Amino acid sequence: MEDKTLLSQNTGENIYHCIRCGLCLAHCPVYKEELLEVASPRGKVQLSRSLVEGKLDLSEEVKEAFFSTCLLCGSCVANCPSGVHGDHLFSGVRWRAKQKYGIDWRKKIMFQILANKWLMSKSAALGGWARRNFSGPWIESKIKAGALSVDRIPPFNKKAFSETVPEVVAPKSGKAKAKVLYFHGCATNFVFGDIGNAVVDVLSKMGVEIIVPKDQGCCGLPIFLSGDRETSVSIIKETLKLFARGDVDAVLVDCATCGAALKNEYPHLLKDLRELGEKVTDEEIKAAELLSSKTMEVTVFIEAHKDWLPKMGESGKKIRVTYHDPCHMAKGMKVTAQPRNILKSIPGVEYVEMPGAIDCCGGGGSFQVEHAETSAKITKRKIDNIGATKAQVVATCCPGCNVTISNHLDPAGGVRTMHPVQLLQMALNR
Ligand code: SF4
Ligand code: SF4
Repeated sequence: MEDKTLLSQNTGENIYHCIRCGLCLAHCPVYKEELLEVASPRGKVQLSRSLVEGKLDLSEEVKEAFFSTCLLCGSCVANCPSGVHGDHLFSGVRWRAKQKYGIDWRKKIMFQILANKWLMSKSAALGGWARRNFSGPWIESKIKAGALSVDRIPPFNKKAFSETVPEVVAPKSGKAKAKVLYFHGCATNFVFGDIGNAVVDVLSKMGVEIIVPKDQGCCGLPIFLSGDRETSVSIIKETLKLFARGDVDAVLVDCATCGAALKNEYPHLLKDLRELGEKVTDEEIKAAELLSSKTMEVTVFIEAHKDWLPKMGESGKKIRVTYHDPCHMAKGMKVTAQPRNILKSIPGVEYVEMPGAIDCCGGGGSFQVEHAETSAKITKRKIDNIGATKAQVVATCCPGCNVTISNHLDPAGGVRTMHPVQLLQMALNR
């Protein structure tokens, strides 16, 4: 029996747009490793269709196909001539699977922590303290979290980034040329505080006033994509209250996933949820559309206002830099040129393009922990491509990609991962 309630009409229509051409296959990182139709985007679109048409039951085995063979990287969407949104379809099926089978208890705890700012800050503080005091390199090097070596996961910030920066940062000099909100997300707040410092430093030197709302939390997208829509919707609504403001010139993000959430996904998700019975008001949808129109990845804003940048200092020696395109940035936000342009403009940077820069790094958030074997195969391609460039720095605009890539680079090779804005900050402070 046909089960149209499985997906919203808007999302469900995607199954009828697929012409089974297979053009998505060559772009799917999982299919390229597994070479199985069930692991391909086309295969999963057809599985979704069979589910909606009642020809297939959402068994454990079928459910598994939507988790273990998909990073929700969006490569299939970006390369589909029919505009099929496989990512929306697959995350919709994950949500139904969650309703039928529940969610893994470890993920449940993790999502409850992400959804609660107080819990998140206490957990990060406790985790950082425990790691500093109890886990020496000998112990950590023995522990793996899926494909990740625990000793090479970056440590927590000693202090949350939000506690180190005022809520309003004035321009370094003169009258503000623009006023922006900065959504720093969880990764910068608790792990990559240096990236947050670089963003604030560079923008204030450009003459920008930066508002960093203290109460901000997770963007909710990792939770939503895992199928826990109920938990993510309250996070989305909280974010809208803080960031959907008409009195700022832009809302800036330094994380590709947060950017994809705020720029692309919120309006779609809220409309979808409302159609499926969730309480979502017209005002909330309008707020999501306003936020979407204001959201920019920070390199896009800097490149658009490059005339505001002070003179960068010359460097005595060259540094070889390559760039990895995060999936949610290149395929989600369609941003590829701006971070490269910034890198190429920095004195002393010798930019070198890596083969397959736009290919997924294999991380996919919890995918690398739960499906280590597939993830590691995808990551190996990326690491080999980085190696071919002989770069000393891999720049990327996603903390998730940063964690994955830095974890797999040869520790003896001395290659660093950085956000492009960190390299820019170094040049401005020389
Ligand atoms: S999802 Fe798009 S690219 Fe893939 S088989 Fe269907 S129509 Fe072709
Ligand atoms: S979202 Fe990415 S991993 Fe998932 S099917 Fe599409 S291309 Fe493959």
